[in-house]
Amino acid sequence: MNVEEEILKHALKNAVEHDGKAAPGPVINKVLGKFPELKKDMTSLGRKVAEIVAEVNALPVEEQKKRLLEVWPDALEKKPEKPKEFPELPGDTSNVRLRFAPNPNGPPTIGSARGAYVNWYYARRYNGKFILRFDDTDPKTKPPMPEAYEWYLEDFEWLFGEKPDEVYYLSDMLPKAYEYCEQLIRMGKAYACKCSQEEGRKYRMQGKACPHRNQDPEESLEEWKKMLAGEYDEGEIVIRIKTDLSAKDPAHRDFVGFKITYAPHPRTGTKYHVWPALDFIGAIADKEIRITHIIRGKDLRDSTARQKYIYSYFGWEYPVTLYWGRLKVHGFGKLSTSQIRKGIEEGRYTGWDDPRLPTLRGLRKRGITPEALREWFKSMGFSERDVAADLKILEAINRKQKHLKT
Ligand SMILES: [Zn+2]
Repeated sequence: MNVEEEILKHALKNAVEHDGKAAPGPVINKVLGKFPELKKDMTSLGRKVAEIVAEVNALPVEEQKKRLLEVWPDALEKKPEKPKEFPELPGDTSNVRLRFAPNPNGPPTIGSARGAYVNWYYARRYNGKFILRFDDTDPKTKPPMPEAYEWYLEDFEWLFGEKPDEVYYLSDMLPKAYEYCEQLIRMGKAYACKCSQEEGRKYRMQGKACPHRNQDPEESLEEWKKMLAGEYDEGEIVIRIKTDLSAKDPAHRDFVGFKITYAPHPRTGTKYHVWPALDFIGAIADKEIRITHIIRGKDLRDSTARQKYIYSYFGWEYPVTLYWGRLKVHGFGKLSTSQIRKGIEEGRYTGWDDPRLPTLRGLRKRGITPEALREWFKSMGFSERDVAADLKILEAINRKQKHLKT
């Protein structure tokens, strides 16, 4: 290949990548990478590049693109990034137990699968346990979808080539959560509060105790029993966990541990109507199933702060906690679970496995292999930094792996 051709290739590529206007500097650098001996005569190289760049820049972008692909067919294909090694887990790693804890209110998506991958990866790396826990204790605002439990099990088996080592359902653990709540009330660390939402917020914003905070534990215990007996309606009473009323973030001040919800649950029906906050029962469950390391989204820092109060009251040691940054996937529109559901109901999607959807079932239908998906997740690395991922890279990895297989 001669020098002019090399200049033209990079001038076209640089132009296409910058709205039709190539800059001579980066083109010169690329050409020197291939022909280092040209450094001896930079003047004539600069002149040649300026000439070709000017010709290229005079073309419409569409024409630039067309010519670029003629001389360099895969110029615009994104190369998969080299997999980054994940950092070591801190703390004692002799008996690692990790859980991934989704609310099954829809099928697994790319975002939840990445979370599961990170946990699964570390469980395997340290020869530990990968646990799937269904955080399904909000029958009112985020009701679980009955089919989704099975979908998580199926899709994760597809993704990892094996079943999770253990599976738990938070909705099975209410009796345990009740036991611990009663203990906290007796210890004076939790109380029954009948303030209206508005009143309660006012006290907490001012960092003041509401009239119920310092009542005799026996009184709270009586109220707790009445709650369980069904003597209260939704919104009339809650159990609050005592924290620090002067905590900087008002969201950490005396948070709700239990509230009343009469909405039926897909697994337990109407058996329970006193429902724990996820931060409460999640903390209890982590202790009960002996989680050693929690890896969760960094949007859950508040949860960690609230859960640590519960752990400290019981004298337990909080698991080592790490966070991942947000994942933004280019290639799909912005789609929430409820938007997808609406789209399916209105017939815009064929179902949860529509290949246009960012669900694992959709990706499978698109022809993506589990190996490619895992490599893609690995290439995103693991840190608290936000990640932008491109579906094109997943597709490139997929093509490469299919090619290797055949
Ligand atoms: Zn109150």
